[in-house]
Amino acid sequence: MAALSKIRPNEVAVACPPPTDAGLVFIGVIRTPWASRQECPRQGRQDGPICRLEVHEPWIVALDGIEEYQLIEVLYWLHESRRDLVRQSPGNNGATRGTFSIRSPARPNPIGTSVARLVRREGPTLLVRGLDCLDGTPLLDLKPDRTLFKPLAPLQPEDIETQPAPPAD
Ligand code: SAM
Repeated sequence: MAALSKIRPNEVAVACPPPTDAGLVFIGVIRTPWASRQECPRQGRQDGPICRLEVHEPWIVALDGIEEYQLIEVLYWLHESRRDLVRQSPGNNGATRGTFSIRSPARPNPIGTSVARLVRREGPTLLVRGLDCLDGTPLLDLKPDRTLFKPLAPLQPEDIETQPAPPAD
């Protein structure tokens, strides 16, 4: 991962419009064992270390029911990322790819996502495995994993149409 002031051979940065962050609200903070990007795994592992999702007021009540799900989609703000790269060189070898074809933290809106395994809830805090972010990373949102979640509202005709297509013969 390039330092903010550095760029790798053949990488391309653009002049970004000033970010407005679309009015996002951080709902808490993520506590992990990793103090630097070099220490972080590239992607979380479900047998990785326990990390803490500390949810802040007034959002704690919004956790009600989450214990029903073993897998949770975690969205977070990769706050130390640069946001101006459109081509990146993940291997730092001169070969580049477009930012939207990789999962680099450097992106115009540095949202990270992981599917984490819920270990337990301790009041306002969820203990999970499967993260890959710095200690102190702002928490954006939590959702039940889509493979486990069944819509609670009555089905609509469009819901039927959006079921996965059966495999072709
Ligand atoms: N799992 C997420 C995803 O796919 O959207 C993030 C993947 S990204 C490749 C993970 C890397 O981002 C880590 O290895 C670390 O180098 C970097 N990173 C982690 N936390 C960060 C933060 N708060 N700000 C900037 N970079 C961060």
